[in-house]
Amino acid sequence: MSSNKKLLVLPGDGIGPEVMREVGRVVNWLSRRRGINFDITEDLVGGASLDAHGVPIRDSVINAAREADAVLFGAVGGPQWNHVGFDKRPELAILTLRRELGLFANLRPALVLEPLVDASPLKADLVRGLDLMIVRETVGGIYFGTPRGIETLADGSRRGVNTEVYTTHEIERVAHVAFALARQRRGAVCSVEKSNVMESGLLWREVVTALAARDYPDVTLSHMLADNCAMQLAREPRQFDVIVTGNLFGDLLSDLAAMLTGSLGMLPSATLGAVDAHGRRPALYEPIHGSAPDIAGKGLANPLAQILSFAMLLRISFGLDAESRTIEDACSRVLSSGLRTGDIMSAGMARVGTQVMGEAVLRELEKLEG
Ligand code: NAD
Repeated sequence: MSSNKKLLVLPGDGIGPEVMREVGRVVNWLSRRRGINFDITEDLVGGASLDAHGVPIRDSVINAAREADAVLFGAVGGPQWNHVGFDKRPELAILTLRRELGLFANLRPALVLEPLVDASPLKADLVRGLDLMIVRETVGGIYFGTPRGIETLADGSRRGVNTEVYTTHEIERVAHVAFALARQRRGAVCSVEKSNVMESGLLWREVVTALAARDYPDVTLSHMLADNCAMQLAREPRQFDVIVTGNLFGDLLSDLAAMLTGSLGMLPSATLGAVDAHGRRPALYEPIHGSAPDIAGKGLANPLAQILSFAMLLRISFGLDAESRTIEDACSRVLSSGLRTGDIMSAGMARVGTQVMGEAVLRELEKLEG
C-alpha cells in the first residue's frame, strides 16, 4: 500500500478549476525536484456537482474528504445556480464539509508581500512587512446559538433573537490552535472578545488565560476588546502575531485584516478540526475569494491565492515547512519581477493571465532550486 499522503482536490466552479490547474504545476515540481508525491483524488463540488449529480456535494465526496489527509478546495457558486432551492445551493458544499469534518478553527493570514505594499488602502509605512494570522472559531457562537428566531409579540410587533454562547471546551480547542500556531511564529497571541459587556466574553477571557498559564507559558498572551481590535488593525496592524476570537468578531475582523493587504486574489485560508486518536487532524485549505463569475473562463484569474493555500497545506498538514516557504518565496519573486494579474495590477507592471502567472511561479521554483 502507498504511504503517500492522501490529497482530495475539489476545484469547484467559476475560476476554481482555472486556478487549481496552476497548483498542478507546483505538485509536479514537488514530485520531480523533491521526490514528494501525493495520492490525489479529484472530484466535483458546488454547481458542477449539482449539474452532474443533482446535489452540491455527494456522500462519496464527503467520505473521501474524511479519509484524506487534507482537502484542497477551489471556490463554488455562480449566477447560473441562483434560481436553485436553498437546500441545493452550491455553497452548501463547503458548509457541509465544514460540518461533517468538524472544522472549527478558521485560519486567515494577512500577509503583505513587499512588491504589493502599495496595493493596501493603508499607507505603505503602516503595512510594510505585515504578517498576522486570525484564528476564528467557526462552528459556535451567535451564528449557531439557541434560542434563535423571529417571534411576534402580543402587541403585534416582532422580535428577532440570536444567542452568543460558548462552552469551556469550544473556547479551549480553538485557543489550542492559536497557541500552537504562535509557537511556530513570533510567539504572541491576542485574544479578542467583549468581556466588558458580554458574559460569554468574560468566560472566553478566563478560559484562554487559564489555558495559557497551564499549557503555554512560553507564549505571550494579551487581551483586547473587539471594537478596539478593529481600530488597532487599521491603526497599527503590525502589533499582532496571532489573533484568536469567536465566530462573529472573527468574521468581521478577518475581512478587515484581508483588506489591509488589498488583494483578494492573494489570500489563502485553512480550516482545521480536532486531532483524532491517530494524531490526524481534518483540514481544508481554500483561497478566500469566491468563484469570480465575472472573469471565469477568460484566463484572467490570479492563481496565487490557490497556490498559497497549497503552500499552507504543506506546512500545517504535512509539516513540509521548507517546501512551503520555497513556494511562498517563488510567488513573491514573481511579483518582484513585475508580473501582475488584473486584480493586483498597478502602473508600470506587466499584465498577465492565469497561465503565465502559474508558469512564472514554476520558473522561480526552478531558479530557487539552483
Ligand atoms: P468573488 O470573490 O468571487 O469576487 C469578488 C471580485 O473579486 C470579483 O470582481 C472577482 O473578479 C474578483 N476576484 C476574486 N478572486 C479573484 C482572483 N483570484 N483573481 C482575480 N480577481 C478575483 O466574490 P463574489 O463575486 O461576491 O461571489 C461570486 C460567487 O462566489 C458567489 O456565487 C458566491 O456565493 C461565491 N463565493 C464562494 C466562496 C467559496 O467557495 N468559499 C467564497 C466567496 C464567494
